[in-house]
Amino acid sequence: MSAERAELRERALAAISAAREPSELARVEREFLGKDGALGKLLGSIRDVPPAERKAFGEGANELKRALEAALAERRAVLERERLAAERTDEHFDATLPARALAHGSLHPLTHVVRRLEQIFSSMGYAILDGPEVELDAYNFEKLNIPHDHPAREMHDTFWCDREQRLLMRTHTSPVQIRALEKMPPPFRAIVPGRCFRNETTDASHEHTFHQMEGLVVGEGITVGHLIGTMKTFLREVFQQELEVRLRPGYFPFVEPGFELDVRCPFCAQGCSVCKRSTWIELCPCGMVHPAVLKAGGIDSQRYTGFAFGLGLSRLVMLRYGIDDIRHLMGADVRFLEQF
Ligand SMILES: [Zn+2]
Repeated sequence: MSAERAELRERALAAISAAREPSELARVEREFLGKDGALGKLLGSIRDVPPAERKAFGEGANELKRALEAALAERRAVLERERLAAERTDEHFDATLPARALAHGSLHPLTHVVRRLEQIFSSMGYAILDGPEVELDAYNFEKLNIPHDHPAREMHDTFWCDREQRLLMRTHTSPVQIRALEKMPPPFRAIVPGRCFRNETTDASHEHTFHQMEGLVVGEGITVGHLIGTMKTFLREVFQQELEVRLRPGYFPFVEPGFELDVRCPFCAQGCSVCKRSTWIELCPCGMVHPAVLKAGGIDSQRYTGFAFGLGLSRLVMLRYGIDDIRHLMGADVRFLEQF
């Protein structure tokens, strides 16, 4: 057996050093190390080796394989050096030509903000969830306490995929709340960054495709105080300063009580165009999860409470980077994207 191996080694090494072209080298590699190559056949003959000698046989074959791979790599490097040397002596070769500039990509501002938020919320023990963008009416509306004839549906200009199957493009990230409630036993905390879709006429502040980040915390004894504390913490991290927040009553069918959370404008003291001269910026709807929503998700609403918020990511990105038109975010203008 070892004689056979020695013969194979000699034949392969000779073929490798005889190869003059990378393509020839590749052929030699296939011939000896390929799937049906000579080494494979040798290894296949292990069946005919007496059991006591099999270990040594396998070790020998592996050693041969490594040796051939090393010889191949070395020969490949030699051929490459020869090719470069030949190129440099070519009369058309100009060593003084400037190198071609490499075009660098950059991350989308949304990606920057989502990554930062994911960091902040994971450090507070939140799970990061994902959910389908094509959603069932039941998850997008019904189980979120927005029944069939509810007027709140009119605020959601919905793209329907299939009206009979009740399939739609989700109009918010809140359906993932129900999916989370159905799957995860409380207590838990989760955020859901994602795309949402509304059949809206686009302008500087409206876009048919936009980004939200849903937040959901469920446990025993969760209160509005936890909600405010959480929002203040994350705003401090995003804007790198302590920002005042306020809650105004707001109506959303899936929370009770529901609020609009405003944040003190980080860009001015007396009023500016971002805060429309009011020094307050509307940041996100939020509130205590409605007992009907907890029940729809199979949670005991007597024992558990929770809070939820729906952060407008597109809006936050615009605030963070001073972008004045939401349409820039989904447009693929490289001149815009290169700035981040
Ligand atoms: Zn302002």
